[in-house]
Amino acid sequence: MQEIETFKLIERISSLLRSEERRKYATIGLQPVHGQVLEYLAKCNKYSNTHAAVAEYLGLTKGTVSQTLQILERKNYLQKTTDSEDGRVIHLSLTDDGRALIDELKPLDIFKQAESKVSRQEFDTIGQALQTTLGVLQKVNQTKSFGSCRSCRYFSVAENHYQCGLTEQPLDREDTDKICRDHLPTPNSFIDQE
Ligand code: SF4
Repeated sequence: MQEIETFKLIERISSLLRSEERRKYATIGLQPVHGQVLEYLAKCNKYSNTHAAVAEYLGLTKGTVSQTLQILERKNYLQKTTDSEDGRVIHLSLTDDGRALIDELKPLDIFKQAESKVSRQEFDTIGQALQTTLGVLQKVNQTKSFGSCRSCRYFSVAENHYQCGLTEQPLDREDTDKICRDHLPTPNSFIDQE
């Protein structure tokens, strides 16, 4: 059960980061895969900076990689060089613009901010650490928390009856375990930010 919760938290953190990444790349007319290719090329060695290696590393087809490389080359983020000893081998490398782009986009701002807050804390379990990380990321990114009633400021219990203070309606016991788009985290749901 704990493993499932941990897995769900990791999934939610990943999806939040993916959506932030998509948003960021969209503002400069690129997709996240373009950034992934540039990041790979920025850190791979001279034996691994080929078309086939990019496809292997990212698990993409050669066709998809070809299109991606064309776009990046057209935008002057990468360049191709023929191998000095084997004319059949083409090496890919970042241009100055490509390197500048990588520096500008990574790491994601929201993750950097969240990391600095979370790294000051100590946690008893990985679930607690992930929950806190997710909460901080949501707050920094101003996204909805989609939590369940027990960690919501609107939730109250009186004489064994559950109540939503937002809708001012009673809640069934099973409803209180479900996630809600109007969820507003209680201050102790995750680290409060200064
Ligand atoms: S707003 Fe949603 S999460 Fe909060 S108490 Fe009401 S139903 Fe529950």
